[in-house]
Amino acid sequence: MKETILITGGAGYIGSHMVRQLAAHGHKVIVFDNLSRGNADAVIDAELVVGDIGNSEELAAVFKNSDIDAVMHFAALAYVGESVHQPDIYYRNNVLGTLNLIDAMHAHGINNLIFSSTCATYGQPESLPITESTPQHPINPYGHSKLMVEQILKDYGDAFNFRSIALRYFNAAGCAVDGSLGERHDPETHLLPLILFEALRVRNGGDPEESTLNIFGSDFETHDGTCIRDYIHVSDLCTAHTAAYHRMLQKPELGAEQFNLGVNRGYSVLEVIEACKKITGIDIQFNTVTRRDGDPPELIADASAAMIKLQWKPEFPSIEHSLQHAWDWFSKNPPDNL
Ligand code: UDP
Repeated sequence: MKETILITGGAGYIGSHMVRQLAAHGHKVIVFDNLSRGNADAVIDAELVVGDIGNSEELAAVFKNSDIDAVMHFAALAYVGESVHQPDIYYRNNVLGTLNLIDAMHAHGINNLIFSSTCATYGQPESLPITESTPQHPINPYGHSKLMVEQILKDYGDAFNFRSIALRYFNAAGCAVDGSLGERHDPETHLLPLILFEALRVRNGGDPEESTLNIFGSDFETHDGTCIRDYIHVSDLCTAHTAAYHRMLQKPELGAEQFNLGVNRGYSVLEVIEACKKITGIDIQFNTVTRRDGDPPELIADASAAMIKLQWKPEFPSIEHSLQHAWDWFSKNPPDNL
């Protein structure tokens, strides 16, 4: 058996895919999740400990009871719009919760952490594509909360030899290639699932003219007025974590590092809808509504540092892969409220 890895937020979207990948590679995996937004049945091949990173005693118990070698920390609140209206829960969960986690790790002599950071730490970047040295000026509390943690990790690296790699995700997309695991958020706010839900509604006989799909703003300074994002397949995000983990073990002296994870290509909201029409063969209509709070117009990664230093390469760089795998999943596992 390889090393034991604790995955916080392992019942969530990206975390659950990570659990499966690590377990498939022979790791013992323990999931720590409060199930506030995750799903217990998404935890496959791992022990589930229901607990909250806000609770230091629950964290201490996990580290005391199990021989954990490293932590991958996915547990976080991650809705940009929600963070603007409820910053308190974002700072408490994402910043204080992470501080509790790393203090518990440090107290138990565990100094290896992979941290889920985000392109939202860059805010509205001055230039594109975004490299790791692009200045970070978040424009919403979600991005601020993640940047604060990055700073904490740098300081812990300097002071305590705490080894961490922060992975700045662009937009995670897609479902398991073999159809075994999907994407489920409650509430669902992400673009790709919502487009595919609309396609399912029409396929079930719904009127295309009564679309449930809203586009948040068509007056951004982009080529078609809608926001541009860099969509990375969830399976590729996970292989990047495994690569980062290996780098951490090979170079324990390096303190805190940060890498962008994207595919170096952007799609506008309208382009994503077009691609979904092709994949599904369904007439997907939409309504244009006002902008959502906190949305920057364009985020595209330069992920070459991850490709070189982590020796990682996305297997599914084109959005069609993510859409096809998601469509396969949602066709078989439609949301309850459809
Ligand atoms: N978006 C949209 N309608 C929706 C959901 C999202 O127009 O119902 C837009 C959103 O404004 C953003 C892009 O799609 O520009 C991606 O949003 P998502 O919530 O999927 O990810 P985020 O970029 O916020 O992490």
